[in-house]
Amino acid sequence: MAARIISGTEVAAQIREELKKETAELKEKNNIVPGLVTILVGKNPASISYVTAKQKAAHELGFYSIQDDQPDDITEDSLLKLVEKYNKDPRIHGILVQLPLPKHIDEKKVLNAIDPDKDVDCFHPVNVGRLMIGGDEVRFLPCTPAGIQELIVRAGFETSGAEVVVVGRSNIVGKPIANIMLQKGRGANSTVTVVHTGTKNLEFHCKRADILIVAAGVPHLVKPEWIKPGACVIDVGVNRVGERISEKTGRPVPILKGDVDFDAAKEIAGAITPVPGGVGPMTITMLMKNTVKSAKISAGIK
Ligand code: NAD
Repeated sequence: MAARIISGTEVAAQIREELKKETAELKEKNNIVPGLVTILVGKNPASISYVTAKQKAAHELGFYSIQDDQPDDITEDSLLKLVEKYNKDPRIHGILVQLPLPKHIDEKKVLNAIDPDKDVDCFHPVNVGRLMIGGDEVRFLPCTPAGIQELIVRAGFETSGAEVVVVGRSNIVGKPIANIMLQKGRGANSTVTVVHTGTKNLEFHCKRADILIVAAGVPHLVKPEWIKPGACVIDVGVNRVGERISEKTGRPVPILKGDVDFDAAKEIAGAITPVPGGVGPMTITMLMKNTVKSAKISAGIK
Protein backbone atom coordinates (compact mmCIF):
# COMPACT_ATOMS: atom_id res chain seq x y z
CA MET A 1 0.00 0.00 0.00
CA ALA A 2 1.31 3.47 -0.84
CA ALA A 3 2.55 5.56 2.06
CA ARG A 4 0.71 8.50 3.54
CA ILE A 5 2.41 11.71 2.44
CA ILE A 6 3.29 13.95 5.39
CA SER A 7 2.89 17.48 4.07
CA GLY A 8 5.12 19.94 5.86
CA THR A 9 3.34 22.72 3.99
CA GLU A 10 0.00 21.73 5.57
CA VAL A 11 1.38 21.12 9.07
CA ALA A 12 3.30 24.42 8.97
CA ALA A 13 0.13 26.28 7.94
CA GLN A 14 -1.75 24.66 10.85
CA ILE A 15 0.92 25.67 13.37
CA ARG A 16 1.04 29.22 11.98
CA GLU A 17 -2.73 29.50 12.50
CA GLU A 18 -2.24 28.37 16.12
CA LEU A 19 0.58 30.89 16.59
CA LYS A 20 -1.49 33.70 15.09
CA LYS A 21 -4.22 33.06 17.67
CA GLU A 22 -1.69 32.81 20.48
CA THR A 23 -0.06 36.09 19.41
CA ALA A 24 -3.42 37.89 19.28
CA GLU A 25 -4.32 36.54 22.74
CA LEU A 26 -0.98 37.61 24.19
CA LYS A 27 -1.58 41.11 22.92
CA GLU A 28 -5.15 41.26 24.16
CA LYS A 29 -4.71 39.71 27.60
CA ASN A 30 -1.11 40.59 28.47
CA ASN A 31 -0.25 43.51 26.19
CA ILE A 32 2.77 41.62 24.85
CA VAL A 33 3.79 41.51 21.21
CA PRO A 34 6.46 38.91 20.29
CA GLY A 35 9.46 40.75 18.82
CA LEU A 36 11.92 39.32 16.30
CA VAL A 37 14.96 40.98 14.75
CA THR A 38 16.74 39.46 11.77
CA ILE A 39 20.23 40.82 11.15
CA LEU A 40 21.52 40.49 7.60
CA VAL A 41 25.11 41.34 6.72
CA GLY A 42 25.79 41.93 3.04
CA LYS A 43 23.71 41.07 -0.01
CA ASN A 44 24.01 37.29 -0.48
CA PRO A 45 20.88 36.49 -2.59
CA ALA A 46 20.12 33.24 -0.73
CA SER A 47 20.45 34.99 2.65
CA ILE A 48 18.17 37.83 1.45
CA SER A 49 15.50 35.33 0.45
CA TYR A 50 15.73 33.45 3.80
CA VAL A 51 15.53 36.67 5.83
CA THR A 52 12.65 37.98 3.70
CA ALA A 53 10.70 34.75 4.28
CA LYS A 54 11.29 35.00 8.05
CA GLN A 55 10.18 38.64 8.14
CA LYS A 56 7.09 37.84 6.05
CA ALA A 57 6.10 35.08 8.46
CA ALA A 58 6.65 37.37 11.47
CA HIS A 59 4.48 40.12 9.90
CA GLU A 60 1.71 37.68 9.07
CA LEU A 61 1.58 36.46 12.66
CA GLY A 62 1.37 39.99 14.03
CA PHE A 63 4.86 40.20 15.56
CA TYR A 64 6.88 43.33 16.15
CA SER A 65 9.64 42.67 13.64
CA ILE A 66 12.73 44.44 12.44
CA GLN A 67 14.99 43.60 9.56
CA ASP A 68 18.36 45.14 10.28
CA ASP A 69 20.50 45.26 7.11
CA GLN A 70 24.20 45.89 7.54
CA PRO A 71 26.91 46.41 4.89
CA ASP A 72 29.32 43.52 4.27
CA ASP A 73 32.25 45.63 5.49
CA ILE A 74 30.76 46.07 8.98
CA THR A 75 33.42 45.37 11.59
CA GLU A 76 33.12 42.47 13.98
CA ASP A 77 33.10 44.92 16.86
CA SER A 78 30.20 46.94 15.40
CA LEU A 79 28.22 43.75 14.79
CA LEU A 80 28.81 42.61 18.37
CA LYS A 81 27.60 46.01 19.61
CA LEU A 82 24.48 45.69 17.46
CA VAL A 83 23.72 42.27 18.96
CA GLU A 84 24.22 43.76 22.42
CA LYS A 85 21.75 46.55 21.59
CA TYR A 86 19.06 43.98 20.78
CA ASN A 87 20.00 41.87 23.81
CA LYS A 88 18.99 44.87 25.92
CA ASP A 89 15.88 45.85 23.94
CA PRO A 90 12.79 44.64 25.88
CA ARG A 91 10.63 44.72 22.71
CA ILE A 92 12.84 42.03 21.14
CA HIS A 93 12.38 38.41 22.23
CA GLY A 94 14.25 36.72 19.40
CA ILE A 95 17.51 37.64 17.66
CA LEU A 96 18.53 35.92 14.46
CA VAL A 97 21.83 36.60 12.72
CA GLN A 98 21.60 35.22 9.20
CA LEU A 99 24.54 33.00 8.26
CA PRO A 100 26.98 32.90 6.58
CA LEU A 101 28.77 36.04 7.74
CA PRO A 102 31.64 37.64 5.76
CA LYS A 103 35.04 35.98 6.29
CA HIS A 104 36.49 38.80 8.41
CA ILE A 105 33.86 38.14 11.10
CA ASP A 106 34.10 35.26 13.55
CA GLU A 107 30.65 33.63 13.30
CA LYS A 108 31.02 31.74 16.55
CA LYS A 109 31.86 34.92 18.46
CA VAL A 110 28.76 36.66 17.09
CA LEU A 111 26.39 33.74 17.75
CA ASN A 112 27.78 33.36 21.27
CA ALA A 113 27.16 37.07 21.92
CA ILE A 114 23.38 36.59 21.54
CA ASP A 115 21.59 36.42 24.90
CA PRO A 116 20.78 32.67 25.22
CA ASP A 117 17.26 33.65 26.31
CA LYS A 118 16.74 35.40 22.93
CA ASP A 119 18.57 32.75 20.88
CA VAL A 120 15.52 31.54 18.94
CA ASP A 121 17.73 29.71 16.41
CA CYS A 122 19.06 27.68 19.36
CA PHE A 123 22.72 27.72 18.27
CA HIS A 124 24.15 29.13 21.52
CA PRO A 125 26.17 26.57 23.56
CA VAL A 126 23.96 27.32 26.58
CA ASN A 127 20.87 26.22 24.66
CA VAL A 128 22.68 23.20 23.20
CA GLY A 129 23.58 22.27 26.79
CA ARG A 130 20.01 22.83 27.99
CA LEU A 131 18.82 20.44 25.28
CA MET A 132 21.32 17.80 26.43
CA ILE A 133 20.02 18.08 30.01
CA GLY A 134 16.39 18.02 28.86
CA GLY A 135 13.19 18.49 30.85
CA ASP A 136 12.50 21.93 32.33
CA GLU A 137 15.99 23.10 31.37
CA VAL A 138 15.00 23.31 27.71
CA ARG A 139 14.05 26.78 26.58
CA PHE A 140 14.11 26.50 22.79
CA LEU A 141 14.43 23.59 20.41
CA PRO A 142 16.54 24.12 17.28
CA CYS A 143 14.17 24.88 14.41
CA THR A 144 14.71 22.13 11.81
CA PRO A 145 14.88 19.29 14.40
CA ALA A 146 11.84 20.71 16.22
CA GLY A 147 9.99 20.72 12.89
CA ILE A 148 10.95 17.08 12.29
CA GLN A 149 9.60 16.03 15.71
CA GLU A 150 6.38 17.96 15.13
CA LEU A 151 5.85 16.21 11.76
CA ILE A 152 6.30 12.78 13.36
CA VAL A 153 3.91 13.59 16.21
CA ARG A 154 1.22 15.17 14.03
CA ALA A 155 1.44 12.23 11.61
CA GLY A 156 0.29 10.11 14.58
CA PHE A 157 3.40 7.95 14.96
CA GLU A 158 4.13 6.47 18.40
CA THR A 159 7.63 7.54 19.33
CA SER A 160 7.85 6.00 22.79
CA GLY A 161 9.92 2.83 22.50
CA ALA A 162 10.26 3.23 18.74
CA GLU A 163 13.56 2.47 17.01
CA VAL A 164 14.63 5.82 15.59
CA VAL A 165 17.57 5.84 13.20
CA VAL A 166 19.11 9.21 12.29
CA VAL A 167 21.38 9.38 9.25
CA GLY A 168 23.82 12.29 9.76
CA ARG A 169 25.52 13.84 12.78
CA SER A 170 25.64 17.56 11.97
CA ASN A 171 25.22 20.14 14.72
CA ILE A 172 22.13 21.62 13.08
CA VAL A 173 20.15 18.46 12.27
CA GLY A 174 21.58 15.02 13.13
CA LYS A 175 22.88 15.53 16.66
CA PRO A 176 20.02 17.71 17.95
CA ILE A 177 17.22 15.54 16.52
CA ALA A 178 18.87 12.45 18.04
CA ASN A 179 18.98 14.28 21.36
CA ILE A 180 15.36 15.40 21.12
CA MET A 181 14.06 11.90 20.32
CA LEU A 182 15.83 10.28 23.26
CA GLN A 183 14.44 12.67 25.89
CA LYS A 184 11.64 11.48 28.14
CA GLY A 185 8.19 12.77 27.33
CA ARG A 186 5.76 13.51 24.53
CA GLY A 187 6.93 12.85 20.99
CA ALA A 188 10.18 11.27 22.16
CA ASN A 189 11.31 8.49 24.55
CA SER A 190 12.71 6.58 21.58
CA THR A 191 15.65 4.21 21.20
CA VAL A 192 17.98 6.25 19.01
CA THR A 193 20.80 5.18 16.71
CA VAL A 194 22.88 7.76 14.84
CA VAL A 195 24.66 6.63 11.67
CA HIS A 196 27.21 8.65 9.73
CA THR A 197 30.20 8.48 7.38
CA GLY A 198 32.05 6.30 9.89
CA THR A 199 29.25 3.71 10.10
CA LYS A 200 30.11 0.30 8.65
CA ASN A 201 26.72 -0.97 7.55
CA LEU A 202 24.21 1.81 6.87
CA GLU A 203 21.67 -0.56 5.33
CA PHE A 204 21.56 -2.80 8.42
CA HIS A 205 20.69 0.12 10.71
CA CYS A 206 18.19 1.79 8.35
CA LYS A 207 16.29 -1.51 7.98
CA ARG A 208 15.66 -1.60 11.75
CA ALA A 209 14.09 1.86 11.87
CA ASP A 210 10.45 2.38 12.83
CA ILE A 211 11.20 6.05 12.28
CA LEU A 212 13.98 6.87 9.81
CA ILE A 213 15.29 10.46 9.75
CA VAL A 214 17.73 11.15 6.92
CA ALA A 215 19.90 14.28 6.93
CA ALA A 216 23.00 13.42 4.91
CA GLY A 217 22.83 15.80 1.95
CA VAL A 218 23.43 12.95 -0.52
CA PRO A 219 20.73 12.55 -3.21
CA HIS A 220 18.93 9.19 -2.95
CA LEU A 221 21.45 7.81 -0.45
CA VAL A 222 18.76 5.66 1.19
CA LYS A 223 17.56 2.89 -1.08
CA PRO A 224 13.93 1.75 -0.99
CA GLU A 225 14.95 -1.77 0.08
CA TRP A 226 16.55 -0.26 3.23
CA ILE A 227 13.16 0.86 4.49
CA LYS A 228 11.19 -1.25 6.95
CA PRO A 229 7.65 -1.77 5.63
CA GLY A 230 5.30 0.70 7.33
CA ALA A 231 8.10 2.92 8.69
CA CYS A 232 7.83 6.69 9.06
CA VAL A 233 10.45 8.28 6.79
CA ILE A 234 11.49 11.90 7.31
CA ASP A 235 13.69 13.11 4.48
CA VAL A 236 15.56 16.26 5.51
CA GLY A 237 17.90 16.32 2.53
CA VAL A 238 17.61 19.13 0.00
CA ASN A 239 19.92 18.52 -2.94
CA ARG A 240 20.03 20.69 -6.06
CA VAL A 241 20.50 18.28 -8.96
CA GLY A 242 19.82 20.62 -11.89
CA GLU A 243 17.50 23.32 -13.20
CA ARG A 244 14.24 23.43 -15.08
CA ILE A 245 12.19 26.25 -16.56
CA SER A 246 9.15 27.14 -14.47
CA GLU A 247 5.88 26.98 -16.47
CA LYS A 248 4.48 29.79 -14.32
CA THR A 249 7.30 32.34 -14.53
CA GLY A 250 9.38 31.15 -17.49
CA ARG A 251 12.44 31.43 -15.25
CA PRO A 252 14.92 28.68 -14.28
CA VAL A 253 14.18 27.02 -10.93
CA PRO A 254 16.30 24.38 -9.18
CA ILE A 255 15.38 20.70 -9.39
CA LEU A 256 15.51 19.38 -5.81
CA LYS A 257 16.00 15.80 -4.70
CA GLY A 258 15.86 14.36 -1.22
CA ASP A 259 18.22 11.88 0.43
CA VAL A 260 15.58 9.18 -0.09
CA ASP A 261 14.29 7.89 -3.43
CA PHE A 262 10.75 9.18 -2.77
CA ASP A 263 8.88 7.48 -5.65
CA ALA A 264 10.16 4.01 -4.77
CA ALA A 265 10.20 4.52 -0.98
CA LYS A 266 6.54 5.60 -0.83
CA GLU A 267 5.53 2.10 -1.95
CA ILE A 268 7.15 0.60 1.18
CA ALA A 269 7.01 3.23 3.94
CA GLY A 270 3.91 3.84 6.08
CA ALA A 271 4.36 7.60 5.81
CA ILE A 272 6.96 9.80 4.14
CA THR A 273 7.82 13.48 3.69
CA PRO A 274 8.28 14.81 0.16
CA VAL A 275 11.13 17.07 -1.01
CA PRO A 276 10.29 19.88 -1.41
CA GLY A 277 7.24 20.44 0.83
CA GLY A 278 8.28 18.22 3.76
CA VAL A 279 10.68 19.39 6.45
CA GLY A 280 11.55 22.64 4.61
CA PRO A 281 8.39 24.66 5.42
CA MET A 282 8.61 23.67 9.09
CA THR A 283 11.90 25.42 9.90
CA ILE A 284 10.71 29.05 9.74
CA THR A 285 7.48 28.08 11.50
CA MET A 286 9.42 26.68 14.46
CA LEU A 287 11.47 29.89 14.58
CA MET A 288 8.19 31.78 15.01
CA LYS A 289 7.11 29.30 17.69
CA ASN A 290 10.35 29.90 19.60
CA THR A 291 9.81 33.67 19.41
CA VAL A 292 6.31 33.38 20.87
CA LYS A 293 7.67 31.11 23.61
CA SER A 294 10.45 33.60 24.38
CA ALA A 295 7.92 36.46 24.63
CA LYS A 296 5.79 34.41 27.01
CA ILE A 297 8.72 33.43 29.22
CA SER A 298 9.94 37.04 29.38
CA ALA A 299 6.50 37.99 30.72
CA GLY A 300 6.45 35.12 33.22
CA ILE A 301 3.71 33.23 31.33
CA LYS A 302 4.04 29.44 31.10
P1 NAD B 1 26.05 18.27 6.90
O1 NAD B 1 26.78 18.13 5.61
O2 NAD B 1 26.53 19.23 7.91
O3 NAD B 1 25.96 16.84 7.59
C1 NAD B 1 25.66 15.68 6.87
C2 NAD B 1 25.85 14.48 7.75
O4 NAD B 1 25.52 13.32 7.01
C3 NAD B 1 27.28 14.30 8.25
O5 NAD B 1 27.24 14.13 9.64
C4 NAD B 1 27.79 13.04 7.58
O6 NAD B 1 28.51 12.21 8.48
C5 NAD B 1 26.51 12.33 7.15
N1 NAD B 1 26.72 11.69 5.85
C6 NAD B 1 27.03 12.28 4.69
N2 NAD B 1 27.17 11.34 3.71
C7 NAD B 1 26.95 10.15 4.29
C8 NAD B 1 26.98 8.81 3.83
N3 NAD B 1 27.26 8.53 2.56
N4 NAD B 1 26.71 7.84 4.70
C9 NAD B 1 26.43 8.12 6.00
N5 NAD B 1 26.38 9.37 6.50
C10 NAD B 1 26.65 10.37 5.66
O7 NAD B 1 24.54 18.56 6.47
P2 NAD B 1 23.29 19.13 7.32
O8 NAD B 1 23.46 20.57 7.53
O9 NAD B 1 22.99 18.25 8.47
O10 NAD B 1 22.15 18.93 6.22
C11 NAD B 1 21.82 17.67 5.71
C12 NAD B 1 20.81 17.84 4.59
O11 NAD B 1 19.63 18.43 5.12
C13 NAD B 1 21.27 18.76 3.47
O12 NAD B 1 20.76 18.29 2.25
C14 NAD B 1 20.63 20.08 3.82
O13 NAD B 1 20.40 20.90 2.68
C15 NAD B 1 19.33 19.63 4.42
N6 NAD B 1 18.76 20.58 5.39
C16 NAD B 1 17.46 20.94 5.21
C17 NAD B 1 16.88 21.83 6.09
C18 NAD B 1 15.44 22.22 5.90
O14 NAD B 1 14.75 21.62 5.13
N7 NAD B 1 14.94 23.19 6.57
C19 NAD B 1 17.60 22.35 7.16
C20 NAD B 1 18.92 21.93 7.34
C21 NAD B 1 19.49 21.04 6.43
